[in-house]
Amino acid sequence: MIILVMNAGSSSLKYQLYNMKNETVLAQGRVERIGMESSIVSHEPAGMPDVRHVSEILDHNTAVRRVIDLLTHPEYGKLKSMDEIKAVGHRVVHGGESFKESTIVNEKVQLEIRQLFDLAPLHNPAAMMGIAAVEANMPGVPQTVVFDTAFHQTMPRKAFLYPIPMALYKRHKIRRYGFHGTSHDYVSRIAAELIGKPLAELKMVTCHIGNGASCAAIKDGKSCDTSMGLTPLEGLMMGTRSGDLDPAIVPFAMFKEELTLSDVNSMLNKHSGLQAISGISSDMREITEAMAEGDKQATLAFDMYVYRLRKYIGAYTAVMNGLDALVFTAGVGENSAIVRQAVCEELTFFGIELDVERNAVHSKEARKISTDASRVEVWVVPTNEELVIAQDTYHLMLNNQAKGSAGAEPLQNG
Ligand code: ADP
Repeated sequence: MIILVMNAGSSSLKYQLYNMKNETVLAQGRVERIGMESSIVSHEPAGMPDVRHVSEILDHNTAVRRVIDLLTHPEYGKLKSMDEIKAVGHRVVHGGESFKESTIVNEKVQLEIRQLFDLAPLHNPAAMMGIAAVEANMPGVPQTVVFDTAFHQTMPRKAFLYPIPMALYKRHKIRRYGFHGTSHDYVSRIAAELIGKPLAELKMVTCHIGNGASCAAIKDGKSCDTSMGLTPLEGLMMGTRSGDLDPAIVPFAMFKEELTLSDVNSMLNKHSGLQAISGISSDMREITEAMAEGDKQATLAFDMYVYRLRKYIGAYTAVMNGLDALVFTAGVGENSAIVRQAVCEELTFFGIELDVERNAVHSKEARKISTDASRVEVWVVPTNEELVIAQDTYHLMLNNQAKGSAGAEPLQNG
């Protein structure tokens, strides 16, 4: 079965074409600067040279049409016809409390995603534009939605509620949702497989640390707490996001600096984190390079980043009353041996013993980086959110076919 995975942003559209027979990527690419002058289209067909175009793409509808043209192009396409695509899976950032798992798109699902626009004003409308564009260009092709929040819907109330008036939860659904769910889910499953124990018997902390960063406490294969909250701003220190802070800082800084709500929002999301403390960059590579040259602010930014991450690992070990495995993933987690070492070297109390040589190895493969004697196993597991979307879509299609042949209601692709 051929499945197209889409991740639509407000001005971008990323895609991957999967052959689910062997879970291989046939082609991938992105359309950037949608709606702006000179949109950029980059297409990478497997085993062929990359294709790059600059043209004007005014909306997501045109972007999807361009993607289909590329995928079926006689020279660098991978498909003879669009009909070979049996389903399209979309990444949707916010599933609120409505979506506890991935699902097939129908009118009701679309309505519910629209009702969540307030919770993810930048992300969910973009995903809906992607869904509408596929509907217009590929009529009748089933679509699915896979949510960043769904995996964390297993959190108990004591973990997802904030200690503020209940009316805010009841009226506006203000609570912790958590993000990066597909990634936490994927890396925890892979780690359990590699450790050779059922997920249900493991207490795990997964650290998805890229530009955005979050930790999850996973017990019995279920997320029981996670560091991002109502929005992806809470929790760990990130590239440009502050993570946790005293909420009273917001009104205080607004008053002292005469900031508007939008100023303070932008300060905490775009001008904080590694970028703000180092004054150099939000990119961990540049921070560690500057640190090696003795830059004091870069060193401080690094130390704060690691310190805050260690605090979460400690807290989640307490929450689960133990820890069997610690997993690193995403840009920093997969590539930065120095961050992993700094995090682990002062967690020996928990039974973590890093193997410095294993940790120093650069690889795209999942690998254990703790010593064989370490009570807690430490793993690096490259994440693959697109693969999870493709797999979920595939399984939803198979289930739907099975139901269809059992005489259930036909798929409504509204
Ligand atoms: P996103 O959250 O946008 O998906 P990624 O997971 O791709 O991001 O992570 C991107 C970040 O990973 C970069 O900003 C950079 O800080 C970090 N990164 C990538 N490679 C390295 C490396 N070799 N060493 C340290 N950090 C790295």
